[in-house]
Amino acid sequence: MQSEVFDGMMDIPQPPVDLGPNGTDLPVVDLHDNEIQVMDMLQLIYHPESVVGILPVPKAFGLLASAMPLLKKYQMDRLLASCVKRVQQDCPETLQDWDIRAAKLSGILSAVTSPEHSKFTTVWANNLVVDPVSVILLTRDFPELGSMAAAAFYDLSRSAHTFDDVMHPDGALEFLESGGISVHYELLTAGEWRRLWHGTNAMRAEIRATSDDPRRRLGQTMDMPSELEHPGCPEPTGRSREFISHVLKDSIAREYPDPLMLLKEVGEGNISDSDLRCQTCRYGVAAYLLQYRHIIWGLLPKFFAM
Ligand SMILES: [Zn+2]
Repeated sequence: MQSEVFDGMMDIPQPPVDLGPNGTDLPVVDLHDNEIQVMDMLQLIYHPESVVGILPVPKAFGLLASAMPLLKKYQMDRLLASCVKRVQQDCPETLQDWDIRAAKLSGILSAVTSPEHSKFTTVWANNLVVDPVSVILLTRDFPELGSMAAAAFYDLSRSAHTFDDVMHPDGALEFLESGGISVHYELLTAGEWRRLWHGTNAMRAEIRATSDDPRRRLGQTMDMPSELEHPGCPEPTGRSREFISHVLKDSIAREYPDPLMLLKEVGEGNISDSDLRCQTCRYGVAAYLLQYRHIIWGLLPKFFAM
């Protein structure tokens, strides 16, 4: 039997024999759990491979998130471990996971830009992305998935400006940037709203402080490109630093509330020679921005801490 707790239950004294409809007297254990959760748990127990291995992302996540608290309660540790693994596969936890998902999404979004295709865009995106609120809900029971929660809060922070996009009567919100994902904001607790608000502002404050004086802010951790001065550079002194400051400020501007995305776009070579004539400086700035992006990702758990 998968669960030691169930094993123990089968040994508890049974009430006076009341033969079931089949005339058997198999032990009966009353579970006082939510019926849907119990059904989901049973599906996992009897068909783990079909759920953990095959189901598309949001379907699998829905079922796992529903059953996992019971698997924990009944100490089905091995099954629980494979569920956690599947959840970790589907929800971004590292910056690399995050980028892989973003690349898939942008592939979908650019493949279908015409209005008559937008319906399909939503369907495809829905097969790839889990509503970040659902991820946060799951981490309430599983604090060990906390780094996933930080990514989910970041995901939400990017959508905050789309509040008036599509609000449904039940409070669910279409998350248009990610290709039409419904985000169930109404399920967040007051404390989680505070985390979202506080974290978003803490992150912006950090980036703003860095943009004001990157050298002082990050001097210990990172080399400024202007410190990598090289002979024959046609740029005026401090030009690279100025450019970095501009990019950082833009990344937290109202119109662009997704710092990681902007830092990536600029860092990956979208610096034109009208921005910086010197190619060596362009390389230096790009490397700096990509490295700074890693630093911000690493700080997300701190920003969005309880
Ligand atoms: Zn240069």
